[in-house]
Amino acid sequence: MESMEVFTDDRVRELRSKLEGSKRIVLTGHRGPDGDAVGACLALWNHLKENGIDSTVVMPDPYPEFIFWMNGHEDIVLHSDKPNLAEELVTQAEVLFVLDYNDSSRVGDLQSALDNTGAFTVMVDHHQMPSDFVDMMFSDSLSCSTCEMIYRLIEKWGEARVISKSTAECIYCGIMTDTGSFRFPSVTPRTHRIAASLLETGMDHSAIHSRVYDNNREGKLKLVGYAISEKLQVFPEFHAAIISLSAEELNRFGYKKGDTEGLVNTALSIEGVNFAAFIHESSERVKMSFRSVGEFSAREFSAKHFGGGGHHNAAGGASQDSLEDVLKKIVSLLPVYSKELNYPAP
Ligand code: 5GP
Ligand code: MN
Repeated sequence: MESMEVFTDDRVRELRSKLEGSKRIVLTGHRGPDGDAVGACLALWNHLKENGIDSTVVMPDPYPEFIFWMNGHEDIVLHSDKPNLAEELVTQAEVLFVLDYNDSSRVGDLQSALDNTGAFTVMVDHHQMPSDFVDMMFSDSLSCSTCEMIYRLIEKWGEARVISKSTAECIYCGIMTDTGSFRFPSVTPRTHRIAASLLETGMDHSAIHSRVYDNNREGKLKLVGYAISEKLQVFPEFHAAIISLSAEELNRFGYKKGDTEGLVNTALSIEGVNFAAFIHESSERVKMSFRSVGEFSAREFSAKHFGGGGHHNAAGGASQDSLEDVLKKIVSLLPVYSKELNYPAP
């Protein structure tokens, strides 16, 4: 299904003129930034810069090392490193972008600054159920990624032909990481047309893929191996699988951010499994990743039981409860959904 056009002519024009008249433009992404969040921020940062508009990217906390190659990443201000600077940038901004998230609670400790900003706020996001906390909302839950939406915004500005290699690499990375390398149902003919025009900038898609996926550390591979051989629980009767990892287990393998990315999809790849969860202990909370194939809504499950959110087939949440309690809760919910989870693979 192709999405409706959310980037209407009058709104993208209004946005552009606001940007051209502003000195303090801030681009933000969600806590635990991923390839799409960082890609969207840096794609816009690069594109605006090349067109004479300066901006600053502010992130709540660190992003994985596998995206340390993106042009401009050294200039990102992390709230976890420089809280005062990050908060000042956010509160004092004239225009502030909310990229790849749709609720102010998604920026963690940066939330109060965001809630108190005097900026004209602009959301570009592809998650379901956006909160209406911005001045201008571009929300398209049918889009595969925020990066795809950034391309469409630039295209609407009439500047698709001047997208640089650096900007293209950021956009490509976000699309690639949010679509499992172009394999999720969210990918449309338009996604491929966009990818084609990105490749026409001369960017090396194969190098981007390698930088993101072929830079494993030994500890990371051993952690993944351990998680699968020792910590994977499969519930064939409920078409479900769960992997859980404690902080101690993560540390044993020298865990770094990003090491467990994709692990939940490995659990989901088991024959007959329609719903998978990966949960792990992370600074004072338990972080959850939920994935589904087909009709079962991972987002509804996460929202209803853990106050989380995301997409139909890919959602997440966090809890202050112990890892053990969260695991118990998920296991105890499976029988409740035994009917909803019982369907053949799509
Ligand atoms: P992941 O499992 O990759 O962390 O997240 C999957 C999807 O769910 C992403 O689109 C992400 O933005 C969303 N998500 C992850 N964690 C949370 C959360 O705590 N709250 C909400 N509302 N969405 C989340
Ligand atoms: Mn995304």
